[in-house]
Amino acid sequence: AAKNSGRGTYRFYSVDLMDVEEERDLLLDDLRKALVTEQLELHYQPVVRTKDHAIVGFEALMRWDHPERGSVSPAVFIPVAESTDLINQLGQWALRRACEDALKWPESVRVAVNVSARQFTNKGFPAVVTQVLAETGIAPDRLELELTETVFMGDSEITSATFKTLKSLGVRLALDDFGTGYSSLSYLRNAPFDKIKVDKSFVDSCTQKDENSAKIITAIIGLSDALGMEVTVEGVEAFDQYRLVCDKGAKYIQGWIFSKARPQADILADIANGGYRIEPAGPDTYRPER
Ligand code: C2E
Ligand code: MG
Ligand code: MG
Ligand code: MG
Repeated sequence: AAKNSGRGTYRFYSVDLMDVEEERDLLLDDLRKALVTEQLELHYQPVVRTKDHAIVGFEALMRWDHPERGSVSPAVFIPVAESTDLINQLGQWALRRACEDALKWPESVRVAVNVSARQFTNKGFPAVVTQVLAETGIAPDRLELELTETVFMGDSEITSATFKTLKSLGVRLALDDFGTGYSSLSYLRNAPFDKIKVDKSFVDSCTQKDENSAKIITAIIGLSDALGMEVTVEGVEAFDQYRLVCDKGAKYIQGWIFSKARPQADILADIANGGYRIEPAGPDTYRPER
């Protein structure tokens, strides 16, 4: 039976009755339709500067409202799309939409767009970015592309050529989910990242009195500072996590403590109300001294 375990999650129909591959193909078909029938949407989650709680950017996160299944999580459908070239079209759609939406925000506010490894290592990717920049007219440094280290698993010549072109265009590059996977430091040495995003798993374990996680966050912040890269700590939910991460020197935070991802209409309404700042949800308002 179909099972919906809470908002934004989707469970596969009983795997014993339906082949996993068959299920995947159904989802792919539906996803192709979703792209042309406007079932896909981008929601935006703020990235907040800790010193003054200013919103410095938003990350675009894809949402799919399936006509029968309801909300399907990107954690489910993105990997499915990544198993084929469909990810290129999905990614291109997201890139363009995110840039168009960002043009309605204050100029100081950036937009971050996730780019899957398959999409990034596709030869045509730099041309897509070039075209979207030209057609939307967005300032290149307002666009930040979020990559994971899986981009380094492919053809290294294409990858380094793509990095070079993107840098010359002036877009920003962020290394997402840092600390998971292999996290080889040579990626930081050889690739021109402007930002590192510390994976949520380190923040999660911080609350369980895991001193090592806190020390790793501190070390990643120190490393990034030394390399002249920005750091955003992802997935900060609770007030004690927020306080700890601020005390470790985090300058940028993204997490439910400030806001979940919300539709463009909500973002625009906030902006119209002067909402360039956002307060953390917590027992009281905590501001780190720095
Ligand atoms: P990601 O890029 O690492 O995005 C961060 C994820 O953490 C998002 O999940 C976000 O909603 C969630 N998150 C942020 N703060 C908190 C928090 O405080 N608590 C908790 N529990 N979660 C938090 P989401 O939106 O479900 O997206 C999951 C993943 O799907 C993304 O991880 C990204 O890898 C992928 N994805 C989403 N949209 C796109 C897209 O347009 N293109 C590509 N290629 N991938 C996408
Ligand atoms: Mg991301
Ligand atoms: Mg991430
Ligand atoms: Mg991720």
